[in-house]
Amino acid sequence: MKNEYLKNYGAPSLDELKKLPSFPKRKDFEKGPIAVIECIEEIPCNPCEKSCPTGAITIGKPITNLPRIHFEKCIGCGICVAACPGLAIYIKHLNYSEEEALISFPYEFLHLPQKDDIVKLVGRLGEEICKGKVVEILNAKWNNHTPIIRVSYNKKYFDKVVTIKRLKKNNCHNKMNNL
Ligand code: SF4
Ligand code: SF4
Repeated sequence: MKNEYLKNYGAPSLDELKKLPSFPKRKDFEKGPIAVIECIEEIPCNPCEKSCPTGAITIGKPITNLPRIHFEKCIGCGICVAACPGLAIYIKHLNYSEEEALISFPYEFLHLPQKDDIVKLVGRLGEEICKGKVVEILNAKWNNHTPIIRVSYNKKYFDKVVTIKRLKKNNCHNKMNNL
């Protein structure tokens, strides 16, 4: 059955995603920061295509086509991340440092972490994977004030991590160091 994991659990599995022609392969990640699109339902939507300044995303016609990324054109700028209403795009940088990868993702919840906080990173079903360090929070006009959070983490968890665990009021900001 198509997208069985998505239908049963509410999120696609990594195996389902890897079957998409537009899901990056390891060699794509080796080149530098690139966008990852986890949009696997055929919905009428295309802001990602329209927002990309390098023409790296194509949907075309009909508008229900799944988005495709041309990785050779992607510069990892993150503009598509803020443009996507489904929060289905993030940027991953495999070789951020020798030991660490970097993920940049949209975060539209009330309690934001701060730079240098240690946060819990989770996978597609919200399962805790590892901890990471907040490197930067972008909340600029160009991204329509959708906060984009950048977190570094151990690259052995590279494939599994997609976002951070949602923060509660009493464990945000510097109190995160107690996690
Ligand atoms: S990260 Fe930038 S260059 Fe890459 S697909 Fe998104 S908007 Fe285009
Ligand atoms: S903007 Fe987001 S939800 Fe819409 S087609 Fe692109 S990736 Fe999918």
